Amino acid sequence: MNKSKDFLRRKVEEDLKAGKYQEIITRFPPEPNGFPHIGHAKSISINFGIARDYQGRCNLRMDDTNPTTEDTQYVEALKDAVQWLGFEWDKDVHYTSDYFFKLYAYAKELISMGKAYVDSLPEEQMREYRGTVTQAGKRSKYAQRSVEENLELLEQMKNGKFQEGEHVLRAKIDMASPNMKMRDPLLYRIKHSHHFRAGDEWSIYPMYDFAHCLSDYLEGVTHSICTLEFENNREIYDWVLDTLKLEPPRPYQYEFARLNINYTVMSKRKLLELVEKKLVNGWDDPRLPTIAGLRRRGYTPESILNFCEQIGVAKANSVVDVAQLEFSIRSDLNPKVPRVMCVLDPLKVTIGNYDGKEELEASYYPHDVPKEGSRRLPFSKEIYIERDDFMENPTKGYFRLTPTQPVRLKHAYIICCKEIIKDEHGNIVEIKAEYYPDSKSGEDTSGIKVKSAIQWVEANEAKEIEVRLYDRLYINESPQNIDDLNPNSLKIVKNALIEPAVITQKPDVRFQFEREGYFFADPVDYTDKKPVFNKIVALKEASSQKKKTPQNRQKQEPKKVQIDGEVTPMTKEEEAKFEKYINELKLNPEVANTLARDKQLSSFYEEALESLFTPVGIANIVTNDIARELKQKDISALKYTPKQVAKLIEMVDNEIISTKIAKQVFEEMSKSGEEPRQIVDSKGLIQISDPSVLLPIIEEIIVKNPDNVEKYRAGNNKLFGFFVGQVLKATKGKGNPKVVNSLIEDRLNIIN
Ligand code: ATP
Ligand code: MG
Repeated sequence: MNKSKDFLRRKVEEDLKAGKYQEIITRFPPEPNGFPHIGHAKSISINFGIARDYQGRCNLRMDDTNPTTEDTQYVEALKDAVQWLGFEWDKDVHYTSDYFFKLYAYAKELISMGKAYVDSLPEEQMREYRGTVTQAGKRSKYAQRSVEENLELLEQMKNGKFQEGEHVLRAKIDMASPNMKMRDPLLYRIKHSHHFRAGDEWSIYPMYDFAHCLSDYLEGVTHSICTLEFENNREIYDWVLDTLKLEPPRPYQYEFARLNINYTVMSKRKLLELVEKKLVNGWDDPRLPTIAGLRRRGYTPESILNFCEQIGVAKANSVVDVAQLEFSIRSDLNPKVPRVMCVLDPLKVTIGNYDGKEELEASYYPHDVPKEGSRRLPFSKEIYIERDDFMENPTKGYFRLTPTQPVRLKHAYIICCKEIIKDEHGNIVEIKAEYYPDSKSGEDTSGIKVKSAIQWVEANEAKEIEVRLYDRLYINESPQNIDDLNPNSLKIVKNALIEPAVITQKPDVRFQFEREGYFFADPVDYTDKKPVFNKIVALKEASSQKKKTPQNRQKQEPKKVQIDGEVTPMTKEEEAKFEKYINELKLNPEVANTLARDKQLSSFYEEALESLFTPVGIANIVTNDIARELKQKDISALKYTPKQVAKLIEMVDNEIISTKIAKQVFEEMSKSGEEPRQIVDSKGLIQISDPSVLLPIIEEIIVKNPDNVEKYRAGNNKLFGFFVGQVLKATKGKGNPKVVNSLIEDRLNIIN
């Protein structure tokens, strides 16, 4: 694959070319204070991926410097996650605690150089002395201590002579630095806790900024890759290594954007809260974004790695749509897993004119995923179908079984309804039906036309299973706390029915249940007596989930951003903007936060809005594509104006071009600065929405593919995608997907 390389790989190549390093060494350095989540998967795929791509090595290092929150169960979970994703760490697992003695020696060295001191200011005063972003700080009087006194105090701190908080060790850097992190950062603090590896040996523990760079150095790491919130820490990273005059080659720190996903919380602290308050069933609850949860749900390692690759490595924070993760598991499973039939809400059907029993041969893999493999499907006069595959008073466009409309039983016969049996409350309890003997799937000579095929199971041989249906854990696009939990995130169907082959000759543990979704045999609770299946993902993105619900956005609070270890609230002006974006313009809080805090972006955005009032569409392009460009260049260097961006979005709104084509046009705009409309015209990118242009194309495709038309009409709904694909191909991606869909639907469902 000849993909363009991300900025990290470009840097690695540059360093190799310049001979800066013999070998590339990266590391994945989690703190073992919780189960790893999909954000960690991104970091794992970057660090281990780079080591693999450049024949280097990647260390797994437990950053165990905070004894109060860490635990071996988390160490195991982290090791599991890395291995399950298919990576191998170099040699043994490393621990920052392995270096406690070496780190301590470095600390003494800094003291001896006059570059570190023991400070004994009370915490509150220490904070006060740090100053603010706009005001220089003031150095503590204890910075005057002699080298000897400092060395002695540090030794006593280590040996447990003092209370927690009584003293700290600080680097002596610059109390007036514009980078708050550089204002004499803490190197060690006193903690009287038992450490799960180091025991009670230490009463002081090193801070991240001191331990991390040195651990990297000690391991020979070359590229120390972390997330953007550590951008300001880079200066300390370099200061420590440079001040200690460590022999080159030394590591350098690079930052990338952390992964955020909508409808998902990703901080271990918040995940821990869910687990501890028993709002979910443990760290591997299939609704959690933990690796253990995704794994138990049925996600494959491939799907997660593909997802990480698709979202790419960027330098600007953004929120990824959870639909993209769902897409990646669907496309991984679609060609791989067998398709079987399961009925979740059974309705009995008795076929009056059928006698005896037979076994039908049914392929596990339909024609669009050609692959060997089939099973025997028992058939008799008693079957179950899905309750909502029958409608007594059908709505318009209902294609399944009705009192007057026959339907095909997938892989079997066409049936029609003869009588509806109801209980005393008027609930339908059974359908009396008849079948057409010459309509058997694959050898149908009946001439009867149906509009769809439905799943079913034979009544006597079907097996009962439990099915766990999962929905998003949060109702809110950017969940803040447990109030945003979705009360319906788990629905348990106790008595679903499944065809026997699934249970008796399990060809795999993952299945597509036809027309329902992808399912996974629960690795924990599944027993032969009570099989349990987890729903991994639906077959398609539900249209209800595509729509954003504005009322969910009302009570959002401005998001606090972490600068310099402290939460910096927005300025009044930023907050006013944020409020306006959320309440008036209905932007999602992440997007609003990004815009409100960035003057350049928000003025660009507001100027664009003046030409065209499409707040959400414009905000998306501004906070994603344009923000990304602005990381590399100044706003004055952009080739396009806000007005031109507005015009681009306007064309999407007016369905002149599709969103996909819009991306292409935008790329062109940022290269050439041409007017969007001109680009669209000169490249002939206008979307084709006119049925009189599209219909002849569709006709031709129908004429050329009689077999697929027949199969589609016999119930192979999957082939719909084939026809849409052909039309889009014939129009070079310019067919308006909405129009194309509805034209094909009309055309294919007209029988004869
Ligand atoms: P959390 O806030 O979820 O506890 P963390 O950053 O404290 O995460 P660590 O265990 O310290 O987690 O991180 C291990 C590595 O994984 C770090 O390099 C960190 O930058 C990276 N990482 C953590 N979360 C994400 C994320 N959402 N996206 C990408 N990388 C992440
Ligand atoms: Mg953390």
